[in-house]
Amino acid sequence: MNLQCRVDLAANYKAGSQIARVLSEDWCTRELYCPACDSNRLTGSKPNNPAVDFECAKCDQPFQLKSLRNWNPRKIVDAGYAAMLRAIRADRTPNLLLLQYSSTWLVQNLLLIPRMFFTESVEKRKPLGPGARRAGWIGCNILLGEIPPDGKIPIICFGVPVRKERVREEFSRVKQLADLPPSLRGWTLDVLRVVRQLGKPAFTLEDMYVFEPELKALHPKNQNVRPKIRQQLQVLRDLGLLRFGAKGNYYLA
Ligand SMILES: [Zn+2]
Repeated sequence: MNLQCRVDLAANYKAGSQIARVLSEDWCTRELYCPACDSNRLTGSKPNNPAVDFECAKCDQPFQLKSLRNWNPRKIVDAGYAAMLRAIRADRTPNLLLLQYSSTWLVQNLLLIPRMFFTESVEKRKPLGPGARRAGWIGCNILLGEIPPDGKIPIICFGVPVRKERVREEFSRVKQLADLPPSLRGWTLDVLRVVRQLGKPAFTLEDMYVFEPELKALHPKNQNVRPKIRQQLQVLRDLGLLRFGAKGNYYLA
């Protein structure tokens, strides 16, 4: 994988954001493979869908590319809140590729967030003030910290490409989450994040119940958080991410 973007393509553009877009899109069509199947390339998508930059011609997975010089590991500024929420509820969010480039246009980091990991826990921002060009518009942030590590798949890590087989393995491990309806998936992913946060290979229900207040705050309408935690542990087991042991013990798969 050649990590250098074609700087000569920048000659026709003035705006920094436009240059970043052209160079990084060109890099992806040249160097990037599909993480979801064995296809070794992605193709630029039709211009009628602004949320999708690339598609895999073989498995139809949609991808959106965000290129940044610097990125905040905690959150990424994203599209309008209402549009994002509509896309989440309709299960139409594309897979997200976060690309960070260096001052010499080398691809430093490339992180894949599979589409199933976008849930309603996206953060709503303050509406733009009355003086702004788009007054009243509400943007949203993608809170990377709220996404469990399973949903942050490195493709390039500090200038070193991760093995293609490894990337595809990681994608395939979480692919089944797409089978859950989006209304339920938020709970599943919040419980998975908490399981990962425990940082132990084996745990008990008591360990999980410590997070009851946090989960209740994320899902204020739900009065029965403990049964919901137990139900979601079963969902994670059925997805092959957990194993149930004897005496109320749970194990990471
Ligand atoms: Zn594919």
